[in-house]
Amino acid sequence: MADAIAVLNAGSSSVKFSLFVEAAGGLDLRIRGQIEGLFTAPHFVSKDAAGRVLAERRWGDGERLGHDGALDVLIEHFREQGGALRLAGVGHRVVHGGMRYALPVRVDARILDELEQFVPLAPLHQPHNLAPIRRLLERTPDLPQVACFDTAFHRSNADLVQMFGLPYAMFEQGVRRYGFHGLSYEYIASVLPQFSPRAAQGRTIVLHLGNGASMCAMQAGRSVASTMGFTAVEGLMMGTRTGSLDPGVVLYLMDQQGMDARAIEKLLYSQSGLLGVSGVSSDMRTLLGSSEPRAQLAIDLYCYRIRRELGSLAAALGGVDALVFTAGVGENSAAIRARVLADAAWLGVEVDAAANDAGGPRLTTAASRVEAFAVPTNEELMIATHTRQAIGPRTS
Ligand code: ADP
Repeated sequence: MADAIAVLNAGSSSVKFSLFVEAAGGLDLRIRGQIEGLFTAPHFVSKDAAGRVLAERRWGDGERLGHDGALDVLIEHFREQGGALRLAGVGHRVVHGGMRYALPVRVDARILDELEQFVPLAPLHQPHNLAPIRRLLERTPDLPQVACFDTAFHRSNADLVQMFGLPYAMFEQGVRRYGFHGLSYEYIASVLPQFSPRAAQGRTIVLHLGNGASMCAMQAGRSVASTMGFTAVEGLMMGTRTGSLDPGVVLYLMDQQGMDARAIEKLLYSQSGLLGVSGVSSDMRTLLGSSEPRAQLAIDLYCYRIRRELGSLAAALGGVDALVFTAGVGENSAAIRARVLADAAWLGVEVDAAANDAGGPRLTTAASRVEAFAVPTNEELMIATHTRQAIGPRTS
């Protein structure tokens, strides 16, 4: 009987899942899907590795499934689909590992309590990430569970990189730049040797451009700096998040407009970015196809912010050997890549327009001093791999 590893990524209103099966060459994706609308009109869909629908179910408007209900549906589904498989463990994407976790960790009740202490650091995500871990500990206490953190990969950053210019005691208390999207960066670092030894060994800036967006400066595959900080709102402008903002704006909004923390949170996380500037959409594809002038303006600001942060990370590295684009926009939009690469000409980037239009992987000419690539990320595989390693070899 082959072993399987389930991967869960639980958000506020959805649970994304996948199931990997152990094979000779590593882990093969068997099932992937999601349950969305957990509290409104739940919709469950599961597909095989080729994208064929294996199962689908809809609940009525206003029916609440919640995280616990969703997990029960998934356990049943894995049972149905995984007839000849043994579920060896479950890996969870957990946004925050605090100051402590630089590696994934196998979770028991004590460690779960510790991870709960990081909820104030990521109140919008951490409680939802942890909900399925608690449920599974109750339902199937012997099933190994592993938490994989978005912050862990950046724990290699020097203290100086992690500090704000706040009183030092606050740094010690944990008010520091943690960085996020670490599982994506770690995956990219793990496959870079397949694309270029120079990118793998040298100074490489990875651009994770999805709904959330950030950039990571790597030296020989290790994170030395990134654009996201204490929260996942710092750095680049994103789909609905502001990116870096003068904190004086927040004080102004409180004093002059009477906004409280929740209203400001909504503004910074959900109403800004591409959506807020364009007034059209948070979705890059929609904006690229729009004739609205402010859709164009939003794209201009998106690219300008990347240009500025690229300069900052290049300075942190003392030069750049390679750029790598990943996630929804980075993997799929030749138009945005072309703009970013043109803006990076001063670094020594010479784009190969035909290669970029064709989706790469290599995007630069043979003569280019800085190499650039488009590389699909795979956070789920990274989590499954970590989970496999953390639970160790099969004993029965
Ligand atoms: P998430 O951060 O939610 O995982 P993704 O990495 O899937 O998001 O990225 C979603 C973004 O990628 C959206 O803005 C979407 O419009 C954009 N995107 C996907 N395909 C394309 C494309 N072909 N051209 C431009 N943008 C694209």
